[in-house]
Amino acid sequence: MRAARALIRLDRFIRNIETLRGHIGPGPAICMPVKADAYGHGALRLGRTALEAGARCLGVAAVEEGAELRGGGINAPVLLFSQAQREEIADILALDLSPFVSDREFIRELAAASRAEGKQAAVHLKIDTGMGRLGCRPEEAAALAGEIAAGGLRLAGTATHLARSDSGAPEDAAATEKQLALFREALGSIRAAGFDPGLVHAANSGGAVLHENSRFDMVRPGIVLYGYSPAAGSPRALPVEPVMELEARIALVKRVKRGETLSYGGIWTAPEDTFTGILPLGYADGLPRLLSGKDYPVFIKGRPYPLVGRICMDQCTVNLGPEGGPRRGDRALIFGGPPAWGAADLAARIGGISYETLCGIGKRVPRLYSFGEP
Ligand SMILES: *Cc1c(COP(=O)(O)O)cnc(C)c1O
Repeated sequence: MRAARALIRLDRFIRNIETLRGHIGPGPAICMPVKADAYGHGALRLGRTALEAGARCLGVAAVEEGAELRGGGINAPVLLFSQAQREEIADILALDLSPFVSDREFIRELAAASRAEGKQAAVHLKIDTGMGRLGCRPEEAAALAGEIAAGGLRLAGTATHLARSDSGAPEDAAATEKQLALFREALGSIRAAGFDPGLVHAANSGGAVLHENSRFDMVRPGIVLYGYSPAAGSPRALPVEPVMELEARIALVKRVKRGETLSYGGIWTAPEDTFTGILPLGYADGLPRLLSGKDYPVFIKGRPYPLVGRICMDQCTVNLGPEGGPRRGDRALIFGGPPAWGAADLAARIGGISYETLCGIGKRVPRLYSFGEP
């Protein structure tokens, strides 16, 4: 077993789902986003666990991610959140993925391929209400619903995506309300044209936690179920727990004399005679090099010790202090469990976000799944 690993606490993941369920009530279905390898946690394991815990379907961003889920035996609906390429249509049909569609051209191509195979592919019509990314204009929605029906596709759902839902600031809340108003109007036009919009969904974590009127038939909460709530630190945050704990065992303890420097560039000079611990974790594992020189604390036996010097590709160094104490083999917690800080705190030191830190944990770091302390 490598001395660095990510412990994936499935017990916390399930509790987070239950906490969100308590917050949104029994009505809305849950679509669990497992794109980007479930934000670095492992798509297959987290996908299965979410479905067992009551999620209705899973969400991916790439056809290959859908293939991994199907290959792992997952039969639940899998939504493809991104705009697929024409060349991917055959795989979408073979894998029975439900793509978001935004335009007439792709709908026609998908419909033709679906008919040719004697299938009725399910799609979700995406409406752009202010994100400015995927989705049709709201006034085009009814015509595209007609195109979907005429092509023999099944309109399984109608969706939009919120750009500013994770903020409690009044101007952001107003922007979200405006998006939701446009969405409701588009839904009205689809129904008025005689079409059933299917499952209506809009809410990401921000919507699910902070905007009750964004929940409709289904929510798509990602980051909050991985343990990072929108509006963290405010009373409106959900009490969720980080699912991933990143840890590394001390590989070597060294003595460093006052005035000596260490690691590339010599950016850290020992202010006194001290001990250092070398951890087998570097930027190739997803520990951002930008964190170098920020005194970010890791926790060893419950005590904080700062990272010092440049973070290297495969290793980093902690200052164990003049008394030393920690030994080779001791576990250093980088983030994700008490009393260590979360991935959001690490990210904040370098102007990043929890999502980016979690997704960035490298392939080389083994994931160890557990339902408690291993
Ligand atoms: C990633 C994604 C989500 C989840 O967003 P969070 O902020 O992690 O809750 C929801 N919907 C779509 C379309 C996405 O791409």
